[in-house]
Amino acid sequence: MSKVNLSLPAVQIRETRINSITGFQGGAEELVGLSRCGVKDNPRSFTQCVGCATSKAACMTILVQDGAVISHGPVGCSSCYHDFAFTYRVNSPLRGVEHPTQRKIYSTNLTEKDMVFGGNAKLANAIREVYKRTGARAVFVLTTCAAGIIGDDVENVCDEAEAELGVPVVAILCEGFRSTVWTTGFDAAYHGIARKLIQKPRTHRDDLINVINFWGSDVFTDWFAPFGAAPNYLTPYSTVESLTRSGEAAVTVQACSTLGSYLGAVLEQEFGVPELPTAPPYGIAQTDRWFRALGKALGKEDIAEQVIAEKKAEYLPQIEALKAKYRDRAAGRPLTAYVTGGAAHGHALLSVLGELGIQAVGAAIFHHDPLFDNGVSDNDQLAQRVRDYGDVPNFNVCNKQEFELVNVLRRLRPDLLLARHGGMTLWGAKLGIPSLLIGDEHYSMGYEGLVNYGERILETLENDEFVKNLEKHAVNPYTTWWLEQPPNTFLRQRGNHEQCH
Ligand code: SF4
Repeated sequence: MSKVNLSLPAVQIRETRINSITGFQGGAEELVGLSRCGVKDNPRSFTQCVGCATSKAACMTILVQDGAVISHGPVGCSSCYHDFAFTYRVNSPLRGVEHPTQRKIYSTNLTEKDMVFGGNAKLANAIREVYKRTGARAVFVLTTCAAGIIGDDVENVCDEAEAELGVPVVAILCEGFRSTVWTTGFDAAYHGIARKLIQKPRTHRDDLINVINFWGSDVFTDWFAPFGAAPNYLTPYSTVESLTRSGEAAVTVQACSTLGSYLGAVLEQEFGVPELPTAPPYGIAQTDRWFRALGKALGKEDIAEQVIAEKKAEYLPQIEALKAKYRDRAAGRPLTAYVTGGAAHGHALLSVLGELGIQAVGAAIFHHDPLFDNGVSDNDQLAQRVRDYGDVPNFNVCNKQEFELVNVLRRLRPDLLLARHGGMTLWGAKLGIPSLLIGDEHYSMGYEGLVNYGERILETLENDEFVKNLEKHAVNPYTTWWLEQPPNTFLRQRGNHEQCH
């Protein structure tokens, strides 16, 4: 278990805190085994692109309903933040936010002159101005590489502004160069929120359950109702006030443990809210376990059994009917699919495939956490996938290296590509592979999620004319030379096997 230390302004980065890696090529079962004995990262000697931690911190703060966000750096570092204003607006109906307000996103626009003379005064003025314009209940300041390089004292500027304005001003130290694992940005945002916003609980409530998630649809209100509880979503669509109360919840559950690993540990270690000690509910077997663990945590095991029985009676026949349709479609052979996505949610989609009887022939997963911050092996979604549905070959830990994805897809030619992030499905489509992108991480969750997702898979397979035509006309930017190389050509092997055997 990693040790949380909220007295430090910056969170410890993932690669040192929980030994996360961004390079591996092999089998999923092999990686699960290696993860228990100190897996080593296999760095790439060539990298096409990487993500940045600031954008991950941004998505966990911009979507706080009554907050404002300032990127302290060159304006280009915040050039992707408008995406989250779009996400906030289009997904708000899924969370019952009827009148989504404009997102409050600003940049201090550091210039060359500021790089010489420092940006502290500019930041202090920006915080004042943003508060004057927005009246935000909290101001989040996200740092960038430029601010880190010149050593601006962001923590101190934020503290002084907080004293002056009387609202929380949260320094989030998330410079892109701090970590090779961009999900460190989630941790940085949660670290700042835990230090400044979450309050020590005066009471513990058994009718409130923390749900750490992105912006997925509100499935948890219905799921928790039989237990007499309601979800407290963290942090998209939360309010500053609801964040302050998260220390009072009975338990914390995750929609994606990669996302919420650190915040779950913070809530448990610093505020006494236990994290559910099992992986999120994707696939029938894991959904059974998840509801049982929830029932146990709430002291309501009988209700959990009742919920499981009712839901199974309703959804299992529909799941079987879908599987029969897949079998008809594949004419005697299993359908095959390839998954690309972030770590735990990518693993979850592999479980969904396993449950639907679709053979996972490979995956490109953006990074790998050997164990999450709570150190509980039952929270390991990849281990759960392997245990319940078997190995996944061609398992590539790959931080969105699209040149590797194209190479692999061209070799494997699966019947279907599943993606969780925009910009990835186009590569399957250009190769004529029916490709499905679903951004709602709750869509495939639980028994009903298998039906939801299974139906979308069927639609995607049945409507393949567009991708077949696209393949005939698409121009592939990669050379024949590269496409004939092994996809892991640029991965340096670091002797994991010797270490573990
Ligand atoms: S990596 Fe650094 S310079 Fe690039 S966008 Fe992120 S914070 Fe800005």
